[in-house]
Amino acid sequence: MRLNLFWKLGFAFFALLIAVLLPVDYYAERTLRSDYERAGFDQLSAIARIALATPPPASSLSTTSHTASPALAEWVTRMAASGVRVTVITADGVVLADSQSDPQTMENHAGRPEIRDALAKGDGLSVRHSVTINRDLLYYAARFSAPSAPPVVLRFAMPLGTVDNEVWAFRRRLWLSSLVMLLVTGMVSLVISRSFSSRVERLQSFSRRVAEGDFRPIDADRSGDALEVLAVSLNDTAARLDGAIRTLTEERNLSSAILGSMVEGVAVVNSGERLLFANQGFAEILELDSPPQSGRSLVEVVRQTELLEAVRAVLKGEPRVEAEIVTGTLRQRFFAVTVASVSPMETSGAVIVLHDITDLRRLERVRRDFVANVSHEFKTPLTAIQGFAETLLAGAMDDPRNRIRFLQIILEHSRRLARLTDDLLELSKMDADRLDLELDRLSVSQFVQSCLETAQRPATEKNLRVSANLKGSLPDIAADRRRLAEVLQNLLDNAIQYTPSGGQIVVSASSDGDQVTFTVSDTGIGIPRTDQPRIFERFYRVDVARSREVGGTGLGLSIAKHLVEAHGGRIWVESEVGQGSKFHFTVPVFQPQHAASRSVR
Ligand code: ADP
Repeated sequence: MRLNLFWKLGFAFFALLIAVLLPVDYYAERTLRSDYERAGFDQLSAIARIALATPPPASSLSTTSHTASPALAEWVTRMAASGVRVTVITADGVVLADSQSDPQTMENHAGRPEIRDALAKGDGLSVRHSVTINRDLLYYAARFSAPSAPPVVLRFAMPLGTVDNEVWAFRRRLWLSSLVMLLVTGMVSLVISRSFSSRVERLQSFSRRVAEGDFRPIDADRSGDALEVLAVSLNDTAARLDGAIRTLTEERNLSSAILGSMVEGVAVVNSGERLLFANQGFAEILELDSPPQSGRSLVEVVRQTELLEAVRAVLKGEPRVEAEIVTGTLRQRFFAVTVASVSPMETSGAVIVLHDITDLRRLERVRRDFVANVSHEFKTPLTAIQGFAETLLAGAMDDPRNRIRFLQIILEHSRRLARLTDDLLELSKMDADRLDLELDRLSVSQFVQSCLETAQRPATEKNLRVSANLKGSLPDIAADRRRLAEVLQNLLDNAIQYTPSGGQIVVSASSDGDQVTFTVSDTGIGIPRTDQPRIFERFYRVDVARSREVGGTGLGLSIAKHLVEAHGGRIWVESEVGQGSKFHFTVPVFQPQHAASRSVR
């Protein structure tokens, strides 16, 4: 680039110089030559005037002898002292004398143009090659007529060599100075082209930098020329590009941050069922290691036919298709699929959104189970009441022995119904968040003792020993006395119910500073390990028949769980079949701020 520009500029200068130099040389040579010739002629004519003023003696001009008289020869020599060649020629062309040659050897000069002109007009000029002395000469001839002699022509000549020398000297200077000029302009053009090239190169590297994403501006030079304007406008373009790219990047980062943080799975496929985008949520839902790469076929990634069919329906022209998929085998999860058509590029595509509806499905199942359970629980007592009432009406009323027994059975079942409805009402209250707790400062030992007193009678009836084991001094707790008593009572009832006679039930409590942990341990039948996580569910019973036999509803522990959690604690069980069970629950220690807010909703 640099060399190129330099040579271009250099060649242009050189061509320009030659184009100017040649005509200058030509015209200067011509002018100089004609100037020199004119000056030469002027000099010759001046000499001629002197010669005419001091002419040769008329006697020496006699043409009879045809030999130069000594007087004429002497005059010619004197005249030639000025450096010019002097020749004396008769009117018929015979050379009488010559300062440089022997007139005898010289040819007739009548035909020479200057002689002819001199004889005709008085004087004559010519520039030509002298045959006699073999040189280019300037000739000036003048006619001279002495009073008593025939007219002769006095001719003065000087070599043209001096003129040529002068012209050549001028030419040398001209070419030399031109050469110097050429060198100077060459240097100048080198400097100019270098600075120009380096500026162009800077612009070039700047645009390369911009293409690579580095938008720092270039320093604009203050040259004020087109390159500076170009640099300024390039800077401007780069700044605009930078701004546009920054905005785009921010937008892209924002949308990828939004899509990345979404728990919903989002993916976009093109009309060829190839993935254009998928977020982390999509990968997690479909149990892929990482979000699938763009360009992968959807069939390779997705196994769920419902999803594939929904995508295909949208790609065929449906604007929006909804479906549901299930993932996982052990822990099933349910997802609502929404596939909508989009046009991300020229061709159409589809956007897939996967939304977790597992909780919804679980709730639906719980609701269904609950309704089934409740109906089932009601059915047994109701059938019994109905059956025994019908039997009584059908005549058993008259049988006094059976009548009492039947009425007792009806009473027992209606009590069971009442218990069930009470428990259900309580649970529904808790579900509706309408449980008002009146938090009070309770002494642990007093609380435990009062509950034990209530449990004492049924325990003694079953021949069970019930005792408390409260170690050291325990902090007071913040609890709703009636509700918490319900919890402990429930656990004690269960312990009494599920412990064979002769067993032992111990209520203990300990504290870690923040909360007090109550434990009800029995030496009863225990709970199988697989059932342990489920006994806090509504209507869950390990042995349904046995529970019913002892009047259980299967709701006691789920109510207890609700109440403990409403106090801010938790409840759990440790049990070994045949060894006994340990139910633990925690209650927060009373803090001064509890006094300020006595009621918790
Ligand atoms: P229920 O009214 O049937 O007692 P609960 O919700 O109180 O209902 O208890 C749920 C189930 O947990 C009971 O049916 C029983 O199988 C089991 N269970 C509860 N407490 C004990 C315990 N102390 N020992 C053994 N099993 C128990």
